Amino acid sequence: IYHYFFGNNYIYMTTSSAAVFLLVIIVVRLFGKDSAFLRTAALAAIVITIYSTCYFLGIRGTTWLFPLVIGLFFNYSKKCALIMSTILVFIGLMLATHTVETELVVRMLFPLGLTISFAYLYRATIEKEQYLLEKEANEDYLTGIRNRRSFQGWLQRAISYLEKDNYLLAVFYLDIDDFKMINDTYGHDVGDLVLREISKRLVGSMRQTDLVGRADKHQFARIAGDEFVIAASHIEHQQSVDIIAQRLLASINAPLNIDGVELKLSTSIGVTISDGHNVSAEELLREADAAMYRSKEQGKNRVTYFDEEIARQIKQKQLIAKGIEEALRKEEFFLNFMPIFKLDPQQQKVLAGAEVLIRCQSDSLMGLGPDQYIPVAEECGAIKDIDLYVIRRSFQLLSSVQEMLPKDFILAINISSKELYNDEFPQQLDSLATEYNIKRSMVELEITETSLVACDDKIIAMLQTIKNKGFNLSLDDFGTGYTAFSQLQHYPVDTLKIDRSFVWNIDDANQNQETMVDVILSLAKLYEVKIVAEGVETQSQLDYLARSNCDYFQGFFLAKPMPWETFKSDYLKSNLAGSDLGFLHSY
Ligand code: C2E
Ligand code: CA
Ligand code: CA
Repeated sequence: IYHYFFGNNYIYMTTSSAAVFLLVIIVVRLFGKDSAFLRTAALAAIVITIYSTCYFLGIRGTTWLFPLVIGLFFNYSKKCALIMSTILVFIGLMLATHTVETELVVRMLFPLGLTISFAYLYRATIEKEQYLLEKEANEDYLTGIRNRRSFQGWLQRAISYLEKDNYLLAVFYLDIDDFKMINDTYGHDVGDLVLREISKRLVGSMRQTDLVGRADKHQFARIAGDEFVIAASHIEHQQSVDIIAQRLLASINAPLNIDGVELKLSTSIGVTISDGHNVSAEELLREADAAMYRSKEQGKNRVTYFDEEIARQIKQKQLIAKGIEEALRKEEFFLNFMPIFKLDPQQQKVLAGAEVLIRCQSDSLMGLGPDQYIPVAEECGAIKDIDLYVIRRSFQLLSSVQEMLPKDFILAINISSKELYNDEFPQQLDSLATEYNIKRSMVELEITETSLVACDDKIIAMLQTIKNKGFNLSLDDFGTGYTAFSQLQHYPVDTLKIDRSFVWNIDDANQNQETMVDVILSLAKLYEVKIVAEGVETQSQLDYLARSNCDYFQGFFLAKPMPWETFKSDYLKSNLAGSDLGFLHSY
């Protein structure tokens, strides 16, 4: 176009300069970064070209440069480019009309207009793209409010402003109560609609609070499935925080009608208040989250403020997490074995298997039991290492005595429900069994029933994968979860382990508890699964269970958890001796 309008005189200059610019641009792209050196080089190239063009062609030589410079400015900002082009066109026209014929002015204006239009379009597309990208990166796709990342960024900035102002900042952490039930009962589409409605309600309820001022003084985010956070940065009085919290709670409590389904929602809220000194966004979120947890523990649908007690608990958890890491590193975990018995036709107890229980006696875990550190390990992720350690170690011990074991011996190993979301787990388990040459049908993995509350297809598939590899599965602490009995048929489990609380209640005059044991026992018969009663502590409990045709028994009354050496010498050696007498203990 330039060539056509300006004639041959310009062609060499135009093409060679264009080549120089192209080269610079290519180099910038190749190096992948916008270095100060390259920018200076580009600027130098422009200056040199302007200078040399003017030298050879006089003032006319500069005319084609206008669009080029304008284009460059467009790369930075539209506004800047428009101002620059106006100035350049003005200067260009002045120069042209004074020095050259008017025909050239017309010739110059056409390419100029063309360049500006193209550059403007180009710039607009880039901006639109960037805007969309940014929106996608900062926005929750479902609700349109912020996501965790962008919320954290905003919160961090709000904290830094606080240091100057005299306001308070409050972070509200909401977790919808039993949201999983909605997904499971009505499907994910309804679940998504509910989440959108919740987000709308939260935004609405902040709008009606006059306590936090302008809209940019508070922000919303959905930071995980059914978890929302709200931060208000312009709080003047502590009382305002409570009013806001109550309004949030009420907004969720209001009845909800989705597709003709009437739902009643509630939420557990955790709140933390800060004056902005010495805190990070991450810390505030952690505090509010911990307070929310407390709300859940205390019965849901309530507001809990972060306080010293919760802070102490967080600290304790961090200590435990550190202790677990240390104990794993120093190999301080070891295993205890707790015998599991059955009754022979003469009602004599016979060893049927053992449950592996983890122990740690070093200082790292301050004498805590697995009840206390396993949940922390699940939270901090160390559970994978613990589970693998327990499996490897028990396989290792068992492999040395396989021939001493009674036939149908069951090795019960507790695994965390977290493994049901760990795609690598079945393979890891399988290769450990191969490595130690362990008969897979001997191994039974215990999973707590509460982890299966939701009849989740993915979990069922996972259980099936483990089962297909030849391992047995058992539902631990059965009766404490909410498994609808009809759901049982979906779970590929071999054994139910009646929770010890039901066994303990057998002795009580309270007849209802006996009924619970009976219900579970008859259920087991119906679904053809085996039953282990754990926590047997008295003769009368054992009698009752035996009369009710329970299959297996475990408890302090029969045998306590013991180190491997004791288990081997007291329960396995005698078996090897060829007589059953060694582990026949009449009761
Ligand atoms: P659990 O799976 O229900 O394990 C049974 C717990 O009940 C054991 O406590 C055992 O010592 C105790 N128990 C059994 N019979 C009786 C009884 O007659 N009376 C009384 N008072 N207690 C009895 P422990 O070893 O403290 O384990 C607690 C929990 O920690 C276990 O509950 C299990 O959920 C978890 N756990 C233990 N070992 C492991 C492990 O190796 N891996 C994983 N992931 N979790 C483990
Ligand atoms: Ca267990
Ligand atoms: Ca149990």
